[in-house]
Amino acid sequence: MEQPMPVSPDTIKEPSKAPAADMSAFLPSAGRRLFLGCVILFAHLVPLYFAKWDVPFLDRLTDGLPSPPGQPEVRLGWHSVLGRFSKWQIAFFGSVLVHQVVYFVHCLPGFLYQFVPVIQDGWKIQGEKKETFALQWKCFKVLMFNQFIIQTPLIAGTYFFTEMFGIPYEYERLPKWYQLVAQVLGCAVIEDTWHYFLHSWLHSKGMYKLIHKMHHEFQAPFGMQAEYAHPLETLILGGGFFFGILVYCNHLVLLWVWVFFRLQETIEVHSGYDLPLYVNPFHLIPFYGGARFHDFHHMNFTGNYASTFTWWDELLGTDVQYKKYYATLQDKRKKAE
Ligand SMILES: [Zn+2]
Ligand SMILES: [Zn+2]
Repeated sequence: MEQPMPVSPDTIKEPSKAPAADMSAFLPSAGRRLFLGCVILFAHLVPLYFAKWDVPFLDRLTDGLPSPPGQPEVRLGWHSVLGRFSKWQIAFFGSVLVHQVVYFVHCLPGFLYQFVPVIQDGWKIQGEKKETFALQWKCFKVLMFNQFIIQTPLIAGTYFFTEMFGIPYEYERLPKWYQLVAQVLGCAVIEDTWHYFLHSWLHSKGMYKLIHKMHHEFQAPFGMQAEYAHPLETLILGGGFFFGILVYCNHLVLLWVWVFFRLQETIEVHSGYDLPLYVNPFHLIPFYGGARFHDFHHMNFTGNYASTFTWWDELLGTDVQYKKYYATLQDKRKKAE
């Protein structure tokens, strides 16, 4: 594994800078910028159509297919939960449970990878920087504070949100499969845009020192560190999670499916491991950044501000250091062969 670009500790305290002259080769052409602008526009608009309306062509795809295995049991279980618990209990305790279980189940593989030398050698991005017990314990303590003291009141708001907007809980009113896919995609696109601009703002000099520096204490991130942040950062960047819900939510289940996807994604990009496609199918999603993209943000402290997709960074030229770094690595590999 090659050594990363040397980074001055002072870089931590500096806001992102305009690309230097030798970086201009990595900026997109005018045509590419136009294409990226169209992609961003369509990515924000297309999910709205599929999430809100019936699409006969997609309905016909699944009409006539046998029910998925386990569906009757799921329906019975869902009715039983609705009969035994109040809406408040389902929205609050159910959402806390979904968040905690999903978070730590997703963290588990990355946690175990540190004990597998073959994975360390093959997939670890910053191989020379190992997770230590002390670092992980420090992270865990902050995580518990953030999750139970900062996030729990926000999760309690789930119930009031569903009551205010008349969001249904019933099994019979579940969205269709393609509507749910479009809703999650739409939430991810909105969150990504929010994250890009607010995260860039958190890298301005004052905000970095005050709030965001805490998230950058780990130059080589690991999955559990995804929610390791200043409480104000949890509130500021967490806003992006809720805007998609405001636009798309038409059933309680979207909240849980969106939590599942968002946690899976943020833990993966913080994992520190560049997993191949057969382990991480997220790489099939066009413009998906992945672990290598966000790992570079932690290693370099600037650039690559988006959470999920690469389009904003490419369009606005904030990924030039990342592109140059990997282009240099590739050159070195070719020369070594
Ligand atoms: Zn940052
Ligand atoms: Zn991060």
